[in-house]
Amino acid sequence: MSEQILTNIAAIKQRISNACEKNNRRPDEVKLLLATKTVPAERIKIALQAGETLIAENKVQELKEKYEALKEVPHNNHFIGHLQTNKIKDLLKYNVSCIQSLDRPDLAEKLHQRLLLENKTIEVLIQVNTSYEESKFGVSPDTVIDLVNRVAQLETLKIKGLMTIGLLSAEAEQVRKCFRLLKDIQQQIIASNIPNVEMKELSMGMSGDLETAIAEGATIVRVGTAIFGERPTPDSYYWNEKAEN
Ligand SMILES: *Cc1c(COP(=O)(O)O)cnc(C)c1O
Repeated sequence: MSEQILTNIAAIKQRISNACEKNNRRPDEVKLLLATKTVPAERIKIALQAGETLIAENKVQELKEKYEALKEVPHNNHFIGHLQTNKIKDLLKYNVSCIQSLDRPDLAEKLHQRLLLENKTIEVLIQVNTSYEESKFGVSPDTVIDLVNRVAQLETLKIKGLMTIGLLSAEAEQVRKCFRLLKDIQQQIIASNIPNVEMKELSMGMSGDLETAIAEGATIVRVGTAIFGERPTPDSYYWNEKAEN
């Protein structure tokens, strides 16, 4: 079981480096993030002890449950799930360095208020709904700039880039459109020259589409299934309106 995880990580790294080579990118331009929802701490630890450093949960509850067990192994925690405002206070207890799923003004405002109280700052990515699916979280592509402008004024939130979940389609070309759109939006934001906004990170690509994402400029790929195996819970539980975090 533990060997399987290590074999899988090696295979993913090979896929990343092949995709980089094909697109004239350096492999160190692309970070591997392990999406660990539903994965027990013991199995996550195997990956961390093998040298992986970046993991992310979708639910505050899971972050909390695994926190003690993972504390002893050095790593960096991101958050990639839908965040409800009533969970902010809890989330900030668990050393999350970046929230990749900032997708609405009221969440930004409430995060800012809490961070001010705690005298902290946090990195954020703006999550964009590039597939225009109603069931997906993320700010609509048409209003990303407004949200970025708003968040840029909140000094506790450090914008580092954008995140998206591509269309879950077997057709690579349909998925590519989503990633290309995220890249376009990134370029527009860079051109707008907004103070306090960095746009270096593009978090896009998962187990099934990381090659396409790397071809379109991903700097972070988020991989779960291809490393830890199939999950018992369908992703709709985490990704749609009914998701309870
Ligand atoms: C689960 C999840 C992933 C990883 O998806 P896989 O297909 O299992 O690699 C990536 N990003 C987000 C936001 C997720 O919830």
